[in-house]
Amino acid sequence: MKICRIDMSTKTISFEEVKEEYVGLGGRGLTSRIISDEVDATSHPLGKNNKLVIAPGLFAGTLAPSSGRLSVGTKSPLTGGIKESNAGGTAAQSLAKLGYKAVIIENKPKNQELNLIKITPEGITIEDAGYLKMKGNYEVGNILREKHGEKVTVMSLGQAGEMRLTAASIAVTDPEGRPTRHCGRGGTGAVLGSKGIKAIVIDPGKENKVEYHNIDNFRTAARSFSKSVLAHPVSGQGLPAYGTAVLVNVLNEAGGLPTDNFRDGRFEFAENISGETMFETIEKRKGQTTHACHPGCIMRCSQVYNDKKGDYLTGGFEYETIWAFGAHCHIKDLDSIAQMDKMCDDFGVDTIDTGVAVGVAMEGGYLEFGDDKGAIKLLEEIGKGSPIGRIIGNGAAFTGQAFGTERVPVVKRQALPAYDPRSVKGQGVTYATTPMGADHTAGYAVTSNILGVGGVVDPLKKDGQVELSRNLQIATAVLDSLGFCIFVAFPILDDETAFPEVANMINSKYNTNFDINEILASGQEVLKLEKAFNQRAGITKAQDRLPEFFKEEAVGPHNVTFDFTDEELDETLEF
Ligand code: SF4
Repeated sequence: MKICRIDMSTKTISFEEVKEEYVGLGGRGLTSRIISDEVDATSHPLGKNNKLVIAPGLFAGTLAPSSGRLSVGTKSPLTGGIKESNAGGTAAQSLAKLGYKAVIIENKPKNQELNLIKITPEGITIEDAGYLKMKGNYEVGNILREKHGEKVTVMSLGQAGEMRLTAASIAVTDPEGRPTRHCGRGGTGAVLGSKGIKAIVIDPGKENKVEYHNIDNFRTAARSFSKSVLAHPVSGQGLPAYGTAVLVNVLNEAGGLPTDNFRDGRFEFAENISGETMFETIEKRKGQTTHACHPGCIMRCSQVYNDKKGDYLTGGFEYETIWAFGAHCHIKDLDSIAQMDKMCDDFGVDTIDTGVAVGVAMEGGYLEFGDDKGAIKLLEEIGKGSPIGRIIGNGAAFTGQAFGTERVPVVKRQALPAYDPRSVKGQGVTYATTPMGADHTAGYAVTSNILGVGGVVDPLKKDGQVELSRNLQIATAVLDSLGFCIFVAFPILDDETAFPEVANMINSKYNTNFDINEILASGQEVLKLEKAFNQRAGITKAQDRLPEFFKEEAVGPHNVTFDFTDEELDETLEF
């Protein structure tokens, strides 16, 4: 495998052998290591000294199920700390098949310009992409697939990335070529935009360069692991049937569905925006209730959501998006929310930070809560690049400042996702302490807090939450490095045969002899170096906290606050 370096100031491309110490790293483990090794933590995120690292996980392109996640790492313009944002779609598998361990993009052009990077079996070229200026991801994808072939993967920026807004994402096309999968969080799109890159086209060709030390052992372990995934009620039944939106009713029932900018834990119109309603709507309109975001995903939590006429409206329509534009903004119309999901995918912004920003603008009096038409109009402004559009496209923290609002649900300037930290306390510990800024995927305590997966930890009490978040953050760093979708955590937590098969897959691919403890220790190492980078960047323990209103204001229906002491939070990643 090789590492490629693209210098955008000189437009030079070089290839290097993988250093000994990087051989066992992939995905998040590799992006965080390279950023930590090569980027001065005090450098400006949009400046020439920041880098953007694209790395498939260690299992990308293999027979391992649901292992096609792509990691993008950089210093985040949103949080000011290290960032790894991962996405599904076909990019990771395409890069792995071409033999790329990582692509490092560094420096920046002297002038404002737009470029296209083309990666093919013949090598890498840089072309002018001025003709794509201020076009949305859907149009960019269509133009590039027409020009370079239907089979290529397109990673691209919408208008937001070109404007370097801090909620800007990088879109990755799904198997049908739609830009529905995103490295959404932390403004990775703004960094790619600062490098003068509008899109990356990847043509994987026909040959698959993925190698195995012992493919027969790998296949046996992958089969056994797939069985565990399919036998679990969440990953084998719930997700394929209803997608992540199944969580709307579950979290509402639990009193953990943040409503009206985190004023309540239940939304009176939850049923209107639930996974069950979505399922019926999709069936009626002849969409697709189940869809894989990349080949080889056996959980297939994605879907295709059609409009009233039966035409494609959006895909990859996730619980967090439905929550952000739904309960958080008191919007009850699923079609309006689907339209906003499509707009975010097209303009290239994170649906969580953008949805929370719209709610914060409502808080600031710009719109009424529940005004779906007004919210859609507001999002249109992002595509136009108007001043108000740029405010929203910079995310919730910036919007809160623009409107002078105190009630802004962010940690390290990144918006809180769809689980109230007071009534799903383990999730609150993760939001506060992960080096990534508020991020539900970094340590998904909803498992034991709400779903009864991996045991039961009472979501309303503090007991066991710090330990739960710590263990999940370590395990997630491992999964993100392997390129697994986070949802394989469900069988891993409940089926004692599952994680040993992950170790078997690692050992049979890489000719190693790691046991489970050594694999988990690698996750701990990733977290340690991410924390150390943040400290060098000036992020202190004082930023490992939730906004004060979560401590002071009890949320219904359980009437609970976020009641951890600073010392308890500081213990979480103290190792
Ligand atoms: S479960 Fe869903 S998000 Fe995860 S890889 Fe499969 S389709 Fe993508």
